[in-house]
Amino acid sequence: MIRIETLNKHYNNGKVQALKDINVSIRDGEFVAIIGSSGAGKSTFLRAINRLIEPADGSHVFIDDTEITGLNKNQLIKIRRRIGFIFQQFNLVEKLTVLQNVLTGRIGFNSVPAMMLGLFSQKDIEIATHYIREVGLIEKLYTRSDNLSGGQQQRVAIARAMAQEPSIILADEPMASLDPKLSHVILGLLKKFNKERGITVLVNLHVLELATQYADRILGFRLGEMVFDGTPEQLDSEHIEHIYSAKVE
Ligand code: ADP
Ligand code: MG
Repeated sequence: MIRIETLNKHYNNGKVQALKDINVSIRDGEFVAIIGSSGAGKSTFLRAINRLIEPADGSHVFIDDTEITGLNKNQLIKIRRRIGFIFQQFNLVEKLTVLQNVLTGRIGFNSVPAMMLGLFSQKDIEIATHYIREVGLIEKLYTRSDNLSGGQQQRVAIARAMAQEPSIILADEPMASLDPKLSHVILGLLKKFNKERGITVLVNLHVLELATQYADRILGFRLGEMVFDGTPEQLDSEHIEHIYSAKVE
């Protein structure tokens, strides 16, 4: 379970309040879509969960019984093994092969000297290969990542996140840099791992129809505030209008 209490974040010495007093709990195995206009705070929200950005003092994020907001650097590295993060721009190492990129998902499980030498165990290689097959790229195992299409690169990023054997995946508009047709491939994979493995998925989406199609639960953000929390069925046109009514300069 993810429990978030009075989560706040401001930028530019408080001039921009990107998140305002967010309180929400996510149950294990939920597939949650976060919607809202550009600038609503979706990326800040997702990144605050695993502290890719530091929330304001007084914010609390718990994963099960561990308070993320209270951890030191080493403890944070450990808990981040359990949280896969998928970026809009894939964030692969272009010069590495598909297998090497996915193996980086195993880094948190190995000693630093072994990592420096690029030594991975047979088990790591099996896990990485398994997820590369699951995302349909087994024939690209030894292809350099910069020779793949954008859609294939994002599938590699999903395999890398899965190779961490996470309990949570956070995905920040994972199809925003892709042809809209590929949205279903990417969300389909996230949904599959959510259903088959019980992984909790939080995904930022700007296309409303995708959110209502894939998510069990939708969180609506507007100017840093969470103004909707409910099922796709509960999200009516009035809610939608309110969520998307704010313009951020
Ligand atoms: P979304 O992902 O919904 O588009 P963001 O979380 O990126 O929203 O941004 C929320 C607000 O915070 C916006 O007003 C944005 O301009 C501001 N913001 C985001 N990142 C920074 C930053 N690094 N420095 C200053 N302001 C930022
Ligand atoms: Mg964003």
